Amino acid sequence: MIVAIDGPAGAGKSTVARRLAERLDFRYLDTGAMYRALTWLAMNRGFPLDRADELARLAMEYPVTFDDRERVWIAGTDVTASIRQARIDRLVPVVAAHPAVREVMRERQRQLGADGNVVIEGRDIGTVVAPNAEVKVYLNADAGVRARRRQAERPDIGGDALVTDLRRRDERDAPRLRAAEDAVQIDTTSLQVEDVVDRIEHLVRERQPA
Ligand code: C5P
Repeated sequence: MIVAIDGPAGAGKSTVARRLAERLDFRYLDTGAMYRALTWLAMNRGFPLDRADELARLAMEYPVTFDDRERVWIAGTDVTASIRQARIDRLVPVVAAHPAVREVMRERQRQLGADGNVVIEGRDIGTVVAPNAEVKVYLNADAGVRARRRQAERPDIGGDALVTDLRRRDERDAPRLRAAEDAVQIDTTSLQVEDVVDRIEHLVRERQPA
């Protein structure tokens, strides 16, 4: 079974998806980490971020992998911490906007999600990567709340810069960000993580074969 969790930055996807996967004993796949790792590699190697074909080749040559401690690897480097830097936050939508890059990533995400039970989080999982997912959830929250959540994860960035960054990222991600028609939409603005996880767990149990 595939559980697809989509939504904008700060809607609670990662926390909820991880927690849900733990509870259900499903695997967890963070597709944002894959775009982040590719962006890190391109920057590290001085690749111009507007060259779609070169970036797609780079993605093909260096697939992102996850180990059993959920660390993220690319080109033999553990990038788990490096991909959470503000400069990556700002540039990843530029890399992720190229259709050629997305095509490579989408195939890889499908392979990684192919076996057994998995919770996959991203922007286009329910719409493009796994349109047949048994459970689709679209999380959203007020922009102010999303910025405050991000602030807790990025204490090094000032509040104003963070709000601006989040708004820019929303704008850049907008063309790919929409709820699938059959997604259950949950506004997490005033919900606790455990409440959101409860609701999704309920949907999974309903659709799980007896
Ligand atoms: O979810 P996270 O904030 O880590 O995603 C980082 C960026 O990767 C997003 O802002 C978006 O540009 C890109 N992304 C995407 N498609 C996905 C997952 C992430 O375009 N499925």
